Amino acid sequence: MNAPPRRPGFPARLGTGSAPRSHHFAPRRAAPAPTPQTPVVRDAIAARARMIERLVAGGITDEALLRALGAVDRRHFVDSALALRAYDDDALPIGMGQTISKPSIVARMVQLLVQGSVRAPDGGRLGRVLEIGTGCGYQAVLLGQLAAEVYSIERLRALHEKARANLRPLRVPNVHLIFGDGMAGYPAGAPYAGIIAAAGGEAVPLAWVEQLAVGGRIVAPVAQAGGAQALVVIDKTMHGIEHRVLEAVRFVPLKSGIS
Ligand code: SAH
Repeated sequence: MNAPPRRPGFPARLGTGSAPRSHHFAPRRAAPAPTPQTPVVRDAIAARARMIERLVAGGITDEALLRALGAVDRRHFVDSALALRAYDDDALPIGMGQTISKPSIVARMVQLLVQGSVRAPDGGRLGRVLEIGTGCGYQAVLLGQLAAEVYSIERLRALHEKARANLRPLRVPNVHLIFGDGMAGYPAGAPYAGIIAAAGGEAVPLAWVEQLAVGGRIVAPVAQAGGAQALVVIDKTMHGIEHRVLEAVRFVPLKSGIS
C-alpha cells in the first residue's frame, strides 16, 4: 500500500506540529468525522507554505535548503505572543535586544553558503559549519539539516540558554551550541566548510578566515564606508582569498566579549 502523500516541503521530521488540545468537555457521542487539522493549525500550515512560496519567488532555488526551510518550524523559536507573525518576512524580537532575522535574509545567506562551500561527495551535504550569533537557534537548526556538524556560538548567556531550551525537544545531535565570543571563531571545530555570521562587525575577523577550510566560504554582514552594512562573501581558494561585497543588509552589531 502506498503511504499517503506528504505535503511538499513539509517532512514530518522537525518542529512542534502538534494540534492544540481542546479542554472542553463534550457529552459522549459517536466519534466525529476525522478532521485532519484544526483551523489554527491549518492556518499555520498555509502561512508556512506561503513563506516557502515567497522564498522561491525571491530566488531561493536550492532544493535541500527549501526542504530544510519546510522542516524547521520558525514558530517554535519565537515567543508565543508572536506566533501569528512567525512566517511573515520580518525580523522578530527574541529578547536581550536581539532579533531573529527575517526568513528571506536567512535563506539568502544560507543559500550563498551552501552554493559556495565544498560539499561532501555523498549527496552534497556540507561538512562542518560555524555560526556566529546563535540567538534563538533557528538558523543553527536550519544549518543542521544541511551540514554534517554545526557549531553555533553566542556571547549572551541568556540567549545561549534559550537556544538550548528551544533545541532540546528537536533532538538535533549534530548542532552544538557554545557560549563564548565568536569574534575568535571556534578553533575546536576548525577547519570549517562554511562560516556564517548573524551579526555585523567592522570587518571579518582574521580568526574566521584562518579557521576556514580551503574551498570554504564565509557569509557575513560587514560595515561599509558611510556606516551602511552589506553582505560580504569570502571564498578561500587554492589561489588565495576572494572577497565580494553584495547587497545592503541590516543586522544587529557583532560585539566582543561575553555577557
Ligand atoms: N541566527 C540567529 C540570529 C540572532 S541575532 C537566530 O536564528 O535567531 C545575532 C546574535 O549574534 C545575537 O544573539 C547576538 O548576541 C550575537 N552576537 C553578537 N556578537 C557576537 C559575538 N562576538 N559572538 C557570538 N555571538 C554574538
